[in-house]
Amino acid sequence: MSTSTQVPNNSGLVQISSVEEMIRQRVAEERSRLEREAGVVHKQAHHFHKPIERPFTADQRHKTTLLFGGLTWKHEKLIHGALEGLGYKCEVVPTPDVKAFQLGKEYGNNGQCNPTYFTVGNLVQYLQKLEESGVKKEDLINNYLFLTAGACGPCRFGMYEAEYRLALRNAGFDGFRVMLFQQSGGLDQSDAEAGLCMNLDFFLNLLNSLNMGDIINEVGYQIRPFEVNAGETDGTLDDMIDYMHEVLKQKSPWSVESSLGKIANKIPMKGTVDYLGKFLNQLYSDDYVVALNKVRDRFNGIKVDRLKVKPIVKITGEFWAQTTEGDGNFNMFPFLEREGAQIIVEPIGTWIMYMIHQVVQHIKDTKGLEEGVVMPPSWRLDKQAKIEWNYRNRLMKLKAAEIIFAREYHKIIEALGGTAHKLVDQYELQRVGHPYYNSRAGGGEGHLEVAKNIYYSNHELCHMVLSLKPFGCMPSTQSDGAQSAVVAHYKDMIFLPIETSGEGEINAHSRVQMALGEAKAKAKTEFKEVLEKLGKNVDELRAYVDKNPEMSHALYKVPKYKGVIGTAANFAVHITERMGNSVPFHKEAH
Ligand code: SF4
Repeated sequence: MSTSTQVPNNSGLVQISSVEEMIRQRVAEERSRLEREAGVVHKQAHHFHKPIERPFTADQRHKTTLLFGGLTWKHEKLIHGALEGLGYKCEVVPTPDVKAFQLGKEYGNNGQCNPTYFTVGNLVQYLQKLEESGVKKEDLINNYLFLTAGACGPCRFGMYEAEYRLALRNAGFDGFRVMLFQQSGGLDQSDAEAGLCMNLDFFLNLLNSLNMGDIINEVGYQIRPFEVNAGETDGTLDDMIDYMHEVLKQKSPWSVESSLGKIANKIPMKGTVDYLGKFLNQLYSDDYVVALNKVRDRFNGIKVDRLKVKPIVKITGEFWAQTTEGDGNFNMFPFLEREGAQIIVEPIGTWIMYMIHQVVQHIKDTKGLEEGVVMPPSWRLDKQAKIEWNYRNRLMKLKAAEIIFAREYHKIIEALGGTAHKLVDQYELQRVGHPYYNSRAGGGEGHLEVAKNIYYSNHELCHMVLSLKPFGCMPSTQSDGAQSAVVAHYKDMIFLPIETSGEGEINAHSRVQMALGEAKAKAKTEFKEVLEKLGKNVDELRAYVDKNPEMSHALYKVPKYKGVIGTAANFAVHITERMGNSVPFHKEAH
């Protein structure tokens, strides 16, 4: 056999490719000629690249101050204690005000949603104040950094990081570090030993402080409207947050060395033992329980009058607008309390559970498969089994995370007297919200705004739902569209959405006053009807409470009765029952 028959002859292919090349070249020449004739000028495209952040490394830790903020002062102070307990220097950027909002508008882009203006402007304002107080600009840039949440999602939350950088540059703080704590994923840090140690101790401290902040905050809002001596709740709240700050600061994280001493170095798989030990210590130790019981006792010392008839207003809306306690939501909480309302605030815990829930849903929807993955053929049972195992394994871990988080949250509720609301089940929220707002639509609070409105109204937990949403918030605008259908279906619901724009406080307050008037009438009618059914009057009930002073303690547990919403109405039923009378209401399981 000759060589010529063994080697394929490529001359045909070479010819084709050279013809193609020639055609390509001629097309390009012709395009340039036409463009020249038409006067089309090509500009160099400058695509956006995320700026390279100067890293925060372990050797800078002792001289670097972490700034953070954006929640309530109670959450922030507890997080401050938790971070100090881990050895970080940190400072809280105080609650943003209108001045911060204006700075955000001055130095940021147009067309942002208003939490962006408030929070970005607030950081600029804080840095300006530090500079005025004598801290040199270069020290601010080198020895401070801002730690914030971020996301890459459909709403403007994904733009926050870029906005911070732009506003800081425009305000003269170019180079100031902004570290993003991603909604999904970790934290951008350098490859060198990271300044912020994202280990189990960090997450446990953060979650404990957030959960304590949620529950102490809620207990404060439960007591204040009924306190007999004005200002007592706020005074106690101040003292107890200071106290818990110290507890968190002084608590050293559990470690295998601290428990076993020198023997620790001899045990096999020391790292795994350490990890498991921390986890079990979190689940089963009563380190915080003892301190929280002290907080409970201090709150319980406050005298309250639960027979004051007040409408209960459930706060929902966009995450930041419903959480902040300042100009960002027109100081809505003190306003509502001055107007005679009792408020149920929204815990951050719901948001954490929502994020876990959304990941669970995504994994279920996709069967745990990444986009574009090529499935192995059906006869590769080994690979099919591996995919199934990975899917179930991921689901199991997330389910465990849901159970553990809720357990830890409810443990703190019990330690603080058991009066705060338990976390609402995310599957129930999805069930009631999905018919109106697709639960797979991400961004902002997703289906939660609609779902919470239905849940709190249907479960007779409030007389009115007030949804606080920032001006320009895309997901909240979508929610409002869906809320029209919700309100049309649930005729008795009092629902008021308020857009918080940074300006126009008087207008917003007057709209709330109008809806609150309706809610007050609802609460008064309810109380009157309950008394009629019980055959009692307020004087009789009050006289019984005076003879049983433990019933005036702030954390005395009053059961919730089916069909009864208000605190005074439920208390009236309970007093009557305690008097030994039968009542035409059934207790609900707590
Ligand atoms: S949820 Fe709304 S207000 Fe919040 S970041 Fe997204 S667009 Fe802005």
